[in-house]
Amino acid sequence: MPPVQLSTDVALGVAIPLRDARGRIARLATTLDTILAAHEYPAVIEKLLAEALTLTALLGALLKEPRGQLTLQAQTEGGVIDLLVCDYLGGELRGYVRHDAEKLAAVPAEPTLQDLFGKGYLAITFDQPLAKERYQGIVPLEGKNLGEAAQSYFAQSEQIPSLVRLAAEKRGAHWFAGGLLLQHLPEGEEGRERLHTRLDHPDWPHVAILGGSVKAEELTDPALPLDDLVWRLFHEEEELRTLPPIPLSRGCRCDPDYVRSVIARFPADEREAMVGDNGLITVDCAFCSSSFAIQPRELS
Ligand SMILES: [Zn+2]
Repeated sequence: MPPVQLSTDVALGVAIPLRDARGRIARLATTLDTILAAHEYPAVIEKLLAEALTLTALLGALLKEPRGQLTLQAQTEGGVIDLLVCDYLGGELRGYVRHDAEKLAAVPAEPTLQDLFGKGYLAITFDQPLAKERYQGIVPLEGKNLGEAAQSYFAQSEQIPSLVRLAAEKRGAHWFAGGLLLQHLPEGEEGRERLHTRLDHPDWPHVAILGGSVKAEELTDPALPLDDLVWRLFHEEEELRTLPPIPLSRGCRCDPDYVRSVIARFPADEREAMVGDNGLITVDCAFCSSSFAIQPRELS
C-alpha cells in the first residue's frame, strides 16, 4: 500500500501520554467538494456543513472498530436549519442540511449557532456493532460555533475536559476544512467508567493552551501536512505520538435494492399515490441527491 498522505482528506490520532491527553486532527478537501457538489447550498450552509463533516470525521476517528459508525444530528425548532445530519463509517463521510432559504436571507453574514438553529439540540451517536455498543448523547446547540457545542457535549455527556477547534474556508472554487479535538483522559484508559474527574489537573490547561493556539488558516491549509502541524503545536512535549492515519472520503450507502424493499412494504394504495406522471416511483437520497426510479410493477 502506498503511504497515506497527511495533507488532505485524512485524520490522524495524537497522544501526549505524559499529559494524559489524546486527540484527533483532520483535514478535508476533495471529500467536501464531492459532498457539496451534490447540493446547491448557499455559502453559509456549505461552511456549516463543512465544519459539521470535519467534526464528524474527528469523532468517527475515535471509534475503535473499523466498521464503527458515528452519526451527528442537529434537531431544531424555529431556526433557519431544521435538520443537519452527518455520518461516518470506516472513513467514509456523508451529510446534508435542510434549511429555509427565506429565513436564511434574514440572518447576518456571520450567523451564530442560535441564528441558524434557533432552539436546537445536537445528538451524537457512537455505534460499535462488534462490541454491541451503542451510545447516544444529546446537548443543547449552544455556543458560538459547532466546536463549542461539541466541547459542551463532552463536558456534559461524558465528563471529559475537551478542546474542539473547527475551521472551513473556500479558496477559489474549492472548500478546505480542518479540525482539532483534544481530550484529557486521566488514568488514560479509554472507555473506563470514571468516578471522578479532576478538572483542575494542571496538565490539561497546558495541553488546552497549546492546542487552542492553532489558527484557522493552519487547520485549513492544504500545504501544511497534519503531522507538521501537530509538531508545530506540541514539539516541546517530552513525548508526542501519532497513530496510524485514517484516509477520509465521501461515501454514500444508499442502495437501489434497499430503497425498493422499503417502498415494497407500503400498502398498495399508498404506493399507487407515489407514482409520478412518468409512471415511476422516484425516490431521492437526501445525502447524495441520487435519484432512484422504481417500476411499480416490480414491487408486487
Ligand atoms: Zn445516497
